[in-house]
Amino acid sequence: MDESIPPTGPGNLRDYREAYGAFNWASLNEEFDWSRGGPYNVAAEAVDRHARERPEKAAIHSVRANGEVHSLTFRELSGLSSQFADGLLKMGLARGDRVFVYLDRRSELFVSVIGIVKMGGIACPLFSALGPEAVKDRLADGRPAAIVTSPYLFERISSVLKDLSPGPKVICVGGRAEGAMPFEDVLASGSPDMIAVDMRPDEPYIIHYTSGSTGKPKGVVLPHRAMLQQLSGAKYVADLRDGDIFWCTADPGWVTGTSMGIFGPWYLGTTIISFEGRFDARSWYSLIDRFKVTVWFTAPTALRMLMKAGDEVVKEFDLGSLRHVCSAGEPLNPHVVRWGMEVLDRRIHDNWWQTETGAPCISNFQCMTVKPGSMGKAVPGVVAAVVDENGMELPTGKEGFLALRPGWPSMMTGIWGNVTKYREYFYVPGWYASGDQAYKDEEGYIWFLGRADDVIKTSGERLGPFEVESALIEHPSVAESAVVGKPDDLRGEIVKAFIVLRPGNTPSDRLKEDITNFVRVRLAYYAYPREIEFVDALPKTRSGKIMRRVLKAKEGGHDTGDLSMLED
Ligand code: ATP
Ligand code: MG
Repeated sequence: MDESIPPTGPGNLRDYREAYGAFNWASLNEEFDWSRGGPYNVAAEAVDRHARERPEKAAIHSVRANGEVHSLTFRELSGLSSQFADGLLKMGLARGDRVFVYLDRRSELFVSVIGIVKMGGIACPLFSALGPEAVKDRLADGRPAAIVTSPYLFERISSVLKDLSPGPKVICVGGRAEGAMPFEDVLASGSPDMIAVDMRPDEPYIIHYTSGSTGKPKGVVLPHRAMLQQLSGAKYVADLRDGDIFWCTADPGWVTGTSMGIFGPWYLGTTIISFEGRFDARSWYSLIDRFKVTVWFTAPTALRMLMKAGDEVVKEFDLGSLRHVCSAGEPLNPHVVRWGMEVLDRRIHDNWWQTETGAPCISNFQCMTVKPGSMGKAVPGVVAAVVDENGMELPTGKEGFLALRPGWPSMMTGIWGNVTKYREYFYVPGWYASGDQAYKDEEGYIWFLGRADDVIKTSGERLGPFEVESALIEHPSVAESAVVGKPDDLRGEIVKAFIVLRPGNTPSDRLKEDITNFVRVRLAYYAYPREIEFVDALPKTRSGKIMRRVLKAKEGGHDTGDLSMLED
């Protein structure tokens, strides 16, 4: 069955093939009239240039959990972030220092990140839902000179901070904390005219810890030159245009939340929305309606939760402002793409990247036909291939390692404090190995199979969990599923599915049988789940990704590994 969804319009990228063939990073550099090889600072490019060119344009509408809105123009943001940058310098911080930002999504988070980068520091935003153990690991690893936090979060980690000597200086937003400098005092001590420190393109501006899906999170170091690819991502993947209102739902504690949530759109001078509250279908839809969001960047888990909330809820809102919708971070099931067409009347554009890649590397573009279930094609300027362990490209349709040719602008420059780990990414000769498995079809579309560790070996066949999960969620009773290999004497592994039912369904053997029969006809003979277990929820990382290794460890009776990132 051909389910391809044709393009609705050309988009900023007019013709994929032509753009891919003609593209080179040097001319993009020219086009945007940047430093031309000299030093620069991404904070100045994201904010200060607009403070000169469009000072009164809103940079951000920051929506508090209670619905109050705090908006900042580019002029205001430029002044505040300069004050903060200068204040940090006056506190004795210096270029290259790490500063952690452990805050809820409020405007001070954005001011802090821009300010830190402006003074030549390395920002390290941490999702405020992280628990004390997770923060402790990162503090020990990143050894920040300062941490920006709020009273309740300070309390959560105060015992952790006491164990560190010398501990970081603490800056407190929205109230007092013992031994901490109030955020306003840091601002008051700095000048709004402070000029961003010039940085070399290869110097770091941010460290992001990975999600911890496969093990202990790694501190990925991204350089200033990443802006080139984040800019092209904002322009071509998110398809941002003048006048857009952009909402990226990812927390700035994750790479999506800064590369596409802050820096990418701000390089283009786009107004962004940020929402402090947690996920809730009504609040989310109402935000799109209230701010007339035109471009929306979200993730499969969120979309599945919206689906689970039911299609009646969406009818309460006017989502007509939406022009372009993107999803990244996890495989996007074809069923979710279909739901997008039916309920939102919009194509959802899947794109693939990693903390380590710093920006989108594979994407569906507005000008392309969308094949539901495929991540799309390599973005112009990036070479993506499916290779074997010797680095040989595999023929069309053949499954192998998803690899990138090193040298794309937003490529990480290191894993913080761990050179060995960094080198491991380059064990396939000539390539950066992503750790994911995929195949390419005859038209060059790339299809995700699973993480290398999640691939199931059953009855002599190799099977990615994604296609089984995608088939399962097409069953009307299934909301979410995670599929793993369970050790089996006869078959090596058998396919086991963990299933969360949609509201109103009761677990039963009959339902198991019904689901099995439903997917059996949709999958290869060896791929249907021989075992099904109903669960209330799936183990997920704090960034909302299914942690299959936890389920797998449980089935295999071995250790679950680092669990600091497990959502409660
Ligand atoms: P860790 O590296 O700590 O195990 P993680 O890999 O989940 O965690 P991230 O860097 O946040 O950390 O996520 C990148 C991974 O997310 C990719 O390697 C891939 O497995 C998955 N991913 C991202 N986007 C997509 C997508 N569009 N389709 C399928 N998988 C995706
Ligand atoms: Mg990873």
